[in-house]
Amino acid sequence: MILGIESSCDESAIAVVNRNGRIKGEWVHSQITKHAEYGGVVPDLAVGEHLQNFFPLLDVIRTEVPIPDGLDSIAVTCGPGLAGCLGVGITLAKTLSLRWDIPVRGVNHLRGHAYSPFMQLDNLNECEKSDFFPHLGLLVSGGNTLLFEIHEDLSISLLAKTVDDAVGECLDKGAKLLGMAYPGAPELEKYAMSGDPKAFDFPRFLSKKNDLRFSFSGLKTSLLYRLKKMSDSEVANRFADLCSSYQEAAFDQLVKTTEKVMTGQRYRSLGLSGGVANNQKIRDDLAKICQKREVLFLPAQRKHTGDNASMIAYAALLDPKGVWANDSQQLTFNPNLKITDLPN
Ligand code: AMP
Ligand code: MG
Repeated sequence: MILGIESSCDESAIAVVNRNGRIKGEWVHSQITKHAEYGGVVPDLAVGEHLQNFFPLLDVIRTEVPIPDGLDSIAVTCGPGLAGCLGVGITLAKTLSLRWDIPVRGVNHLRGHAYSPFMQLDNLNECEKSDFFPHLGLLVSGGNTLLFEIHEDLSISLLAKTVDDAVGECLDKGAKLLGMAYPGAPELEKYAMSGDPKAFDFPRFLSKKNDLRFSFSGLKTSLLYRLKKMSDSEVANRFADLCSSYQEAAFDQLVKTTEKVMTGQRYRSLGLSGGVANNQKIRDDLAKICQKREVLFLPAQRKHTGDNASMIAYAALLDPKGVWANDSQQLTFNPNLKITDLPN
């Protein structure tokens, strides 16, 4: 079994996953309420929270899974993320590795998200690979918007990324302009459900097929100007329409770009991961384009869309190119890792 440890941002998470990819136990402690009053994640506060939370989390695990019995390795997020936060997880991983005399390995957090849609399968290594690959992946979170291809050997090629805000950031910033507390995207989704997505014509950035990228900062600015032109009562009366149209413009860009990439390619499955993958509308929109093209739609399970440690252990298990450090002293963090970067 592999012990996974995740601490890249504002979730402290630990999981135990066996060699078939089955989750034996997983625990996440979210700090979201601590950061909400500041309107975003405060790095120093997050470090202190991780320091407080990991030992109780370890105690909880040990009441349910008798570690270190049966553990043969530790996988820990080594980037990208907040440096201080990554440091807490890595120090814990190295200490446990020395204490228990088992190897430790750094895992790229983005690759954890990228492979997370496959965690719901029984055991990917025993599946018919051609049922799933080549796979197109869309990672949508508070810090990233990435479209990438996963090949049959599980290597990853990046196809498009955002040139400014991430889609989750765009939704959160829009929600903030509409008076919602951080992170407002889930609340925005609730209002959007009863609104008309076509009521307001917000701009959609669409890139060319030979120069694929996402951009969301213009959308947020256009909401700002729209709101400036409206009276308070107008905003109140058309609140659901504003939410719905804003969310629609953001998702329209994701869906159209994904569709553009699917055209003429023989992808067997489409994955959706990251915190924004919680949203039912984006799940429905992508399910539709997959159905039309007879491509298997594989959104990550909701419990694994946000940051979690199961995906870190799972990525360590899947990615054949990752390196287990014999000398745990070598392991350090890289806050700027890209999805195509190894380790893992
Ligand atoms: P992550 O960066 O993966 O931890 O995900 C956090 C991001 O996902 C934040 O921007 C959240 O606002 C966003 N998010 C969470 N739930 C939803 C939802 N239901 N709809 C849209 N965005 C969401
Ligand atoms: Mg994440």
